[in-house]
Amino acid sequence: MTELACEAHLQLQHLPNYLDRITDRLHSFNADISQGEDRIDFRFDFGAASFDMTPGSLVMRANSGDADGLARIKDLLATAVQVYAKEEQPQIVWSGDLADETQLAQFREMTVVSATWLTPHMRRIRLAGERLERFGKYGNMHIRMLFPTEKIPEPQWPTLGRNGLAVWPSEDHRPTPRAYTIRAFSVEEGWMDVDFVTHEGDSVGSKWALESTAGDKVGIMGPVGRPLRQADWYVMGADETGLPALARMLETLPPTTTGVAFVEVADERERQDIGNRTRIELNWIYRNGVAAGADERLANSVLSVAWPDGQTRFGWFAAEAMAAKRVRDRWRSELGLGRDQTLAAAYWRRGISGLMAG
Ligand SMILES: Cc1cc2nc3c(=O)[nH]c(=O)nc-3n(C[C@H](O)[C@H](O)[C@H](O)COP(=O)(O)OP(=O)(O)OC[C@H]3O[C@@H](n4cnc5c(N)ncnc54)[C@H](O)[C@@H]3O)c2cc1C
Repeated sequence: MTELACEAHLQLQHLPNYLDRITDRLHSFNADISQGEDRIDFRFDFGAASFDMTPGSLVMRANSGDADGLARIKDLLATAVQVYAKEEQPQIVWSGDLADETQLAQFREMTVVSATWLTPHMRRIRLAGERLERFGKYGNMHIRMLFPTEKIPEPQWPTLGRNGLAVWPSEDHRPTPRAYTIRAFSVEEGWMDVDFVTHEGDSVGSKWALESTAGDKVGIMGPVGRPLRQADWYVMGADETGLPALARMLETLPPTTTGVAFVEVADERERQDIGNRTRIELNWIYRNGVAAGADERLANSVLSVAWPDGQTRFGWFAAEAMAAKRVRDRWRSELGLGRDQTLAAAYWRRGISGLMAG
C-alpha cells in the first residue's frame, strides 16, 4: 500500500499555552501519544501524525495508507489547532499528497428512499448514497446533516480548503446544518437510516423529516463526534434525541457487556422495540404530559446508579442541555471521572435552534 503524506508549517507564538488542550482533544479521538520536549507523535488506527515544535513555529505532519485516513487526520489536526489557537488566527496550508484536492472526503449527497413512522413522533428516513464505508470506520455514529430550506431550496455543498477543513458557500447558498445519528446502515446496499424526533416549534430538521419524500436530496458530513470507548459496564441515559444512538449501542456492543440504561420518551406510545443483545438492563421513563426537557427523572435515575469496582466502566448521556450539564458536572467535578470514562452531551437546548454538539 502506498503511504500518503503531507505537512503544514505554522507560525504560532503561544503554542505552549494551549498545547495540552490540543493533545487532550486528539487523545479523545483514540490517538496514542508519545511526547518529547519538542516533538509529539500521534498514532491513530487510520494513520499517524506528528508535531515538531520550535519557539514560534509548529510543523504538523500527517500520513495514512488511504485518502480517507489522510483527510481525517488533516481535519482532526487543523480543527484542534483552529479551536485552541483561535486568538492567533493560524494560517494552515497543507502541502504534499492530495493538497490540491477540493472534494470534501467526509461529504456525501444523499437521496431520500423512504419515510416511515416508528412511533407517533419518531420518523425514520432511509437515505441512499455512494461510498458509505467511512461512516462505519472511525468508531463514531453521528453525522452533520445539511438541509435545504424554504429560503435556500437548492443549497451549494461545501468543498475542501487547503487547510484541510470545509469551505462553505456564501450565506445565500449555504445549507442549514443539524446533528443526527446513523441509526443503521449498509455499505454494501448503499443506505443509512436516520430517526428524526418530530417536535413542536419552528425547526429545520424536524420540518424536513415531516415533509421529505422519495427523491429529495440532502447533504451529510461525517462521521462526527468522539468515538465511543469500549467498557465492560455502562450507565446510559437518553431522551428521544439520544435514543437512536443508545439503541444502536445496545444492538452492537458485545453481548457480555453489563450495566443499566434509561430512556425518557413522551409516553408509552413512543416506546420502541430494541434488539438489545447485551446484558445492559433497559428502563423506560414516560413524561406523561411533562414538557420535553423539563423532567428531571432521567438525570436523577442515571446519577443514582452506583459505579461498580473491578471492571472498565463508562457513563454515556445524551439529552437536553440542562440535564446533560447536571450529569456532566456530577461525573466530572464530583466523581472526578475523565473524558475517557464519560460522555455527557447536550443534544438540544430548550428554546434554542441549531445546537450542534454537546
Ligand atoms: C451528536 C448528536 C446526535 C443527534 N442525533 C439525533 C437523532 O438521531 N435524532 C434526532 O431527532 N435528534 C438528534 N439530535 C438532536 C438534534 O440535533 C436537535 O434536536 C436539533 O435541535 C433538531 O433540529 P431542528 O431543526 O429540528 O430544531 P431547531 O431548529 O434546532 O430548534 C427549534 C426549536 O425546537 C426545539 N427543539 C429541538 N429539538 C427538540 C426536541 N427533540 N424536542 C423538543 N423540542 C426541541 C428547540 O429548543 C427550539 O426551540 C442529535 C444531536 C447531537 C448533538
